[in-house]
Amino acid sequence: MLDSLFEFIEASPSPYHAAAAAVERLVATGLVETGRSDSWSELDAAQGFVARDGGTVVAARATESVDPDRLRFSVIGAHTDSPNLRIRPLPDSGALGYRQLGVEIYGGVLLNSWLDRDLGLSGRVTVASGAGDGPRTVLWRCDRALLRVPQLAIHLDRDANDGLKLDRQQHMTPVWGLGGLSADGFREFLAEELAVEPDAVLAWDVMAHDLTPPARLGRDGEMYAAARIDSLASCHAAVEALAGLKALPDDAAAVIVLFDHEEIGSDSATGAGSPILADALERIGAALGASREQYLRAVARSLCVSADGAHAVHPNYPERHEPQHLPLLNGGPVIKTNVNVRYATDARTHARFVAACDAADVPYQIYSHRGDLPCGSTIGPITASRLGMGVVDVGSPQLSMHSARELGGCEDPAMLTAALGAFLAEG
Ligand code: ZN
Repeated sequence: MLDSLFEFIEASPSPYHAAAAAVERLVATGLVETGRSDSWSELDAAQGFVARDGGTVVAARATESVDPDRLRFSVIGAHTDSPNLRIRPLPDSGALGYRQLGVEIYGGVLLNSWLDRDLGLSGRVTVASGAGDGPRTVLWRCDRALLRVPQLAIHLDRDANDGLKLDRQQHMTPVWGLGGLSADGFREFLAEELAVEPDAVLAWDVMAHDLTPPARLGRDGEMYAAARIDSLASCHAAVEALAGLKALPDDAAAVIVLFDHEEIGSDSATGAGSPILADALERIGAALGASREQYLRAVARSLCVSADGAHAVHPNYPERHEPQHLPLLNGGPVIKTNVNVRYATDARTHARFVAACDAADVPYQIYSHRGDLPCGSTIGPITASRLGMGVVDVGSPQLSMHSARELGGCEDPAMLTAALGAFLAEG
């Protein structure tokens, strides 16, 4: 399981790559690839299907003979994006003999964690095609050490260890060469990489990634360190749960949705704030013979498990945690609760996830945020309010959330996958 997660993380330096890797894994287990703009009415629900749009994926499997009057959806949601540094549209800059690339900060980056790392680049690039054809968008990655945000030497900042201050505009611009600004810039580099003319490079969504591969960590190797554990570990568990589903329930459609743009609030065409999930569920219902009335009744019976990283207790900062709610690495999935609905869990949905953990024979833990710290959020409350569906927020415990390199427990990926699998199998 851990090797499979490591492969998934390595295949997914950008949300577009994560979505493509999820599709590839699901297609390899028999699901059919389709698109949001294709017809879903003739698809074989028992075989299952998967649609990708940018960094977002929806996949479903259901028994064809499901009674539309009893239909419900068992949904697992997660997110493909992670906080990082993204290349600006006009990135070329240089001063004092350096070549630099302008970046914009995506999401709640722990800025210090990006200092002094060897960074590659990845994302998608839209290029002009030949005469008569429209532009095409291609996935691209480069795993050479291209960029670095060099930290200031301590001799030039004697206060660095008393609270490092990093300005998002001034201090995070990576170097990527010497010689100062030249005419041969980022567009020319991309053109060379993609074997097209520079004029054919129309636009890009490109971001930096740490080149250090995932690794086991610790005296006995019981932890693992990797980039983007939040929330590729959740995406991986969702994909594995759906791919591994042996028997389909006779009244529930099993659905997973992996959204882009969670880290910036989910309001986008492919984020959890979009109609993507509601539309997909209605179309899946229609493919199973449900009317609009039957679809709306199905939603009222449905449950979404929103899977996202959870905060394990930090041994050096115990005072940052609510003393009765201290999740441990390798302690099993965490159920996240917040009465102000920063997490969407309520008593009913909480109990249903506990039943899934019991069915999978995995332990679970419970998280509640300190009262004197603002609580983060997930796609859970957004999904609940967009669809009027019950949601439970869960996730594997981890440390260093939003760092360029995070830390998890080696046992947790298999336990989360098993719990999600039991949820899909039994609802
Ligand atoms: Zn997350």
